[in-house]
Amino acid sequence: MVIQGKNLESAARELLTQRGVAITDIAELVMFLQKPYNDKISLETCLIHVDNVLKKREVHNAIITGVQLDILAEEKALMEPLQTILADDEGLYGIDEILAFSIVNLYGSIGFTNYGYIDKVKPGILEKLNNHEGPQIHTFLDDIVGAIAAAAASRLAHDNPSYSDITK
Ligand code: MG
Repeated sequence: MVIQGKNLESAARELLTQRGVAITDIAELVMFLQKPYNDKISLETCLIHVDNVLKKREVHNAIITGVQLDILAEEKALMEPLQTILADDEGLYGIDEILAFSIVNLYGSIGFTNYGYIDKVKPGILEKLNNHEGPQIHTFLDDIVGAIAAAAASRLAHDNPSYSDITK
């Protein structure tokens, strides 16, 4: 049985909300990435691009898979050694990033530059998701959110090649 695109999209969006990530949080990350190249950019424009990225099946699949694993880790429902790896957000694990690449890939190599940068700086919501305080585990979600922002920024750059050569 093939899940209807609409149902998949609403499930993915619902999971983001449940896990404390608003669409505006992601749009703010896009602003952060694009501002140096276009100081007239508005949050509304960023929101439109995030919204379009959130229509892609690859993105829905990454969200429902990654968030499920984060939740199972919170519930201590995973087998060892994966349980400890995800609970500790172990640096050498890397599969969280690999999953996020399925999103970054959507808009070409410019997405990788954006993703690498935002993953290093961790502004806004990414800092919150990464603080490792409290019972919540966001080992997968932080990379997914960074990847959605990177993809949206790349989409925006492709739409406006004159002012957003962000690979430089
Ligand atoms: Mg991670």
